Amino acid sequence: MCPDKRKVIVTQTHTRLAALRAIMQQTGTTLTALAPGAHMHWVLGYHPHPDERSTYLLVGPESAAMVVPSVNAQDIGSRVDVPMHVWTDEDGPSAALGSALVAVVPAGAVRVSLDETMRADAALLLLDQLPAAERSFATETVGALRMRKDDAEFSALKAAALVADHAMRAGFAALRPGQTERQVADAIRAGFAQKNTPSAFCLVASGPNGAYPHHSTGERVLQTGDAVVIDIGGTTGGFPSDMTRMAIVGHAPEGYDAVHAVVERAVQAAMAAARPGVAAQAVDKAARDVITQAGYGEYFVHRTGHGLGLEVHEPPYLTATSETVLQEGMVFSIEPGIYIPGRFGIRLEEIVILRKDGPEILSSLPRTAFVAA
Ligand code: ZN
Ligand code: ZN
Repeated sequence: MCPDKRKVIVTQTHTRLAALRAIMQQTGTTLTALAPGAHMHWVLGYHPHPDERSTYLLVGPESAAMVVPSVNAQDIGSRVDVPMHVWTDEDGPSAALGSALVAVVPAGAVRVSLDETMRADAALLLLDQLPAAERSFATETVGALRMRKDDAEFSALKAAALVADHAMRAGFAALRPGQTERQVADAIRAGFAQKNTPSAFCLVASGPNGAYPHHSTGERVLQTGDAVVIDIGGTTGGFPSDMTRMAIVGHAPEGYDAVHAVVERAVQAAMAAARPGVAAQAVDKAARDVITQAGYGEYFVHRTGHGLGLEVHEPPYLTATSETVLQEGMVFSIEPGIYIPGRFGIRLEEIVILRKDGPEILSSLPRTAFVAA
C-alpha cells in the first residue's frame, strides 16, 4: 500500500474509533468485538479475508487490539495501525485472544458488542473467555454509525449508482422478442464489466415471472406484450449499487399502465414522507397506503426499503414496524412493488441519500417503463 493511502486510512480509522467509543460510552459498552467483514472494514478501511483462522478487532474504551493468525500478520500490519496479538497454527488463537482482552478490556463488569456476522467458532471462543459478560450485537454500535454516510461514502455510492444506470441501459438495448432473460442479464453484466464493476446480482423477471419478487433469472423467452422487472446491482470501488426499473416488450400487457402509475405514486409518497426525524415506518406507511387505497395492498409483499453502504442490505430497514429515526446522511432504497400472480410484477427502486429537506436520488435514469420496439 502506498504511504499516502495508508495515511488517509489511518486518519479515518482514528476518527471512526473516536465515534465508536462515543457510542460505546452512551450504550455502556466496554468491548466491541469485530470479525473480518463490513463492520471491521468500516473501522479500518480494510478487512482481512474472512476464513476459519479466527481474527478479531477488539475495541475498548481506551485501546484497541487485533488478534491475527501469523500467516496474515505481515499483511495486516502493513495496512493497519493497531497493536497485534499474533497466534500460530500450532498454538491456536486462545492465548493471543486472552492477552488482547487483558490489554483492551477494563477490569470490572464487561458489556460486549459482538459483530453479528462473526463466525460461531470465533464468537464462542470469545464469549467463553468472558463468561460474565453482558451481550449485545454491533448493530447497536458500529451498525448505528454506519447508517449515516460521510461525503466520501456518498461519492462512492453515487459513482456506483451511475455505473448501474449504464448497465441498465445495456440491458434495455438487449431487450427484444426472442431473447431469453439470461441473455438480457448477460448484456447487463457486460455493461457493468465495461465500467470495471463486477455484477453482484442481476434479476430479469419477464411476464408472469415478474410476480415473483426474487425470481431466478432463467431461460424464459421474451414475448411481445411482456412487462419485465429488472433489478440489478454491482460493486464499484468496493461500494454496491441496487436499482430496479421496468421494461415493456413491444406493448404493455393489459392493465399495466394503471398499476405502474400506482407504484410510481407510492414511490413519490415515500419520497415526500422521508425527512430527518421521521420514523422509518412512516415512509413504509406512505408507500403502502397509496397501494392499499388503489386496491393492491395484498400484492405489496415486502418492506419499502433497506439501507445501503458497504453492504447492499444494511440498516436502516424501512418496514411497517421500524422505529428507527431517519437522519440526514442516511442512504436507503425506496422500492415499493405490486406483484399480480399469473400476470406481471412492477417494482420501481431508487437509492436515495436523505438531505435536510428530503431525499436526493442517486440514479439519473427515469422511472418510466422502457419500451423495446
Ligand atoms: Zn434493494
Ligand atoms: Zn434491488
